[in-house]
Amino acid sequence: MDLETDIRNVGIVAHIDAGKTTLTERILYETGAIRRMGEVPDGTTMTDFLSQERERGISIAAAAVTCHWKRWRINLIDTPGHIDFTAEVERSMAVMDGIVVVLCAVKGVQAQTETVWRQAARYQLPAVIFVNKMDREGADPERVMRQIRESFEVTPVASLTESAAFLADFDDEVYRDFVEGVQPSEVALQRAMRVATLRRRAVRVLFGSSLQDIGVQELLDAVGDYLPSPLDHYPEGRAEAPLSMRVFRVAESPFAAGERLAVVRVLSGALDSGESVRNLRTGQTTAVDGIYQVQAAEFEPCPSVSAGEIAALSGRWGVKLRTGDMLGDPSGVLPGEKMVFPQPVCSELLTAVNPAQATHLGAVLKELCREDPTLRVKQTGVASWTLAGMGELHLETIRRRIQDDFGIATRAGAPRVEYRRTVSGSARCTGSFRKQFPDGRQIFAEVAVSVSPRESGSGLLLEGAAVLRGHPEEYRRAVMQGMQHVLQAEDGGFPLTDIKLVVESVSQPNGETTESACFEAAKSAVEMVLREAGLVELEPVMRLEVLIPQGMAGGVIADLNSRRGTVLKVEQQTLANARVTALVPLAELFGYASSLRSLSAGRGEVVAEPAQYLARATH
Ligand code: GDP
Repeated sequence: MDLETDIRNVGIVAHIDAGKTTLTERILYETGAIRRMGEVPDGTTMTDFLSQERERGISIAAAAVTCHWKRWRINLIDTPGHIDFTAEVERSMAVMDGIVVVLCAVKGVQAQTETVWRQAARYQLPAVIFVNKMDREGADPERVMRQIRESFEVTPVASLTESAAFLADFDDEVYRDFVEGVQPSEVALQRAMRVATLRRRAVRVLFGSSLQDIGVQELLDAVGDYLPSPLDHYPEGRAEAPLSMRVFRVAESPFAAGERLAVVRVLSGALDSGESVRNLRTGQTTAVDGIYQVQAAEFEPCPSVSAGEIAALSGRWGVKLRTGDMLGDPSGVLPGEKMVFPQPVCSELLTAVNPAQATHLGAVLKELCREDPTLRVKQTGVASWTLAGMGELHLETIRRRIQDDFGIATRAGAPRVEYRRTVSGSARCTGSFRKQFPDGRQIFAEVAVSVSPRESGSGLLLEGAAVLRGHPEEYRRAVMQGMQHVLQAEDGGFPLTDIKLVVESVSQPNGETTESACFEAAKSAVEMVLREAGLVELEPVMRLEVLIPQGMAGGVIADLNSRRGTVLKVEQQTLANARVTALVPLAELFGYASSLRSLSAGRGEVVAEPAQYLARATH
């Protein structure tokens, strides 16, 4: 096997329940990675190894599994099936070269698959599509093909021979045959399909049933034939190049208590066990004392790892290592796309049921935040914390982990919406601090800042490094702390977002200054400039997709309207079902799942994803 051309780093992505777990299991079985098919219902599947996943029957954490098919080594990078965990999807996408999208033949393209498709487009990931559950009543392949064309804006190819006229653009031989009216050869068509796939202009669509073992081998062939190799994705990513690795998961080490494992994708170069690597963000150097191939819950030691591969590295990483960090040499291959993590939309107050465990709980929460960048924690009392995340289910999952993995039972308050603030205009202000002592000595500091709004969802940007560089380190830090004090809402307001704040000048014209003078001047400058620019409160708005029997759509829509919802679309999903897409403020959605159950006699289904922050309506 040629490491660089025969590896496929692939993620399987799907809407919950489309059959991702069953398909993964089937692939592992077909390729001989496991000897026995586990069934999802009794929770013995290999990728669902976390106990809470078994309980829920959904795949939450990302794991990597290796299997072999023909000449290819396929690394399946598992992605979570629930939208509350989009950050997990992001962090695993950053290390894939292509994706397999699983669609349900009955339900077709669903909201979550559209979200994931958009994410994949950002990472330029080519795809193949597996339309699963073709054995089920109501399977409608034509409708699924139509939906792929409309929602994914790409040409779906169900049959190479029937798509020859399309494919003619991507291969000279196919083009010539097409012009001459000759049927192109299978090999030429496959070559054209590969080029079309890599350019994301077309997508190969296969139909089957992972439960009945139909179409799975064809899917594996398509993964090998059409999805990119690591070299297709990163042409500079050779084993001889300088080392570059991306950390996409940080996990507790199963080998040494208190140590952590870095799960990495090697983008270029090679690493032997025992060598040291540098973290490009922190500058820290760490000796790698073990390299392991990850086989779902198992780790297999190996002496080295090189470009295109995925491995878990053990070493004394310390607490600073984070998901998304780059390790190695700055001249190695760097991925183009930064991982984008959504901001938390919902929070709850957390305490330990047993007060004696409070300190331990604090430490565990900190550790979990390091692992999961969409989770935030803030200590709000001697033994209480506010935990913020992507939704009720996300927070509930974290609480279960704290209970199962660390033995700490927690009590949670009602979930609360994470409101934010932004500015409606631009402004510039100067804040000053002055203190006169009886002996005539004067302490003085003056800080000028300007503020302007940024695009929704773009976050907070602080500028002014050049201005600050001219001042001693301790004053610089004090200015930053004064600004952060306001921005992070230490005084009780909502955190700020989507603004650009620039330090225009820092001065102490007549006399001495102190750190606290700098802190106070910066703080009052930011307070003033925000007031001047006009503050607006923002609330998170979720995009909802509700599936319900046709006759019940009216009631569901009326209910969404009463929750300040905006209905975007009502479509016929299948003969019997309707699909309602709406934007609804999160504040109106707590407990929605149970009221939908009563509105639809238990037959409705809902998926929600954070969509945007909008100006908060005042009641
Ligand atoms: P996931 O949530 O996407 O991981 O989906 P699962 O693999 O857990 O499957 C969800 C449900 O669909 C389970 O009850 C499976 O047994 C069932 N399922 C999966 N694949 C198929 C299939 O090809 N045909 C049928 N009829 N059922 C399937």
